[in-house]
Amino acid sequence: MTSPEQACPFCQRLFSKTIIHENDLTVSFLPNLRLVRGHALVIPKRHVEPPELLTPEESVAIMQEIERLRLLMLEHFGPGVDVWQKSRPQLPQGHNGTKVDHIHFHVLPSDPDSEIYEKGIIWTFDHFSPTTEQEAGEVIPYLQDAPKG
Ligand SMILES: [Zn+2]
Repeated sequence: MTSPEQACPFCQRLFSKTIIHENDLTVSFLPNLRLVRGHALVIPKRHVEPPELLTPEESVAIMQEIERLRLLMLEHFGPGVDVWQKSRPQLPQGHNGTKVDHIHFHVLPSDPDSEIYEKGIIWTFDHFSPTTEQEAGEVIPYLQDAPKG
């Protein structure tokens, strides 16, 4: 049977030609499919899927690399930077030809002149709804609870 590591394009290091930076815990690289010029991914070297399985050391190393990249992107690629981590275990690896289960953080230069900025990286005002007192009363207790996982 195939292990998650054997089936994982990141553990198989399919990005080996576009590595940006690597240390004992993390590696950052340019994905083979990018949204904007400079779009980078940061991953733990160990195969981890849900974020809660990252060690504290991996979490710190990932955040340090994100911050290093963010500062360089501000310097070289655009006036802003977006960071995304999507947890979508409901979708199988390979969904849409791009989904990889190995946790990864997208670090994207945010340039108002780029097409993708207009299409999705920013939210326009009409995407927002007011947070009502009732909704706050319902949602906050869920988010103050101790996670069961
Ligand atoms: Zn992996």
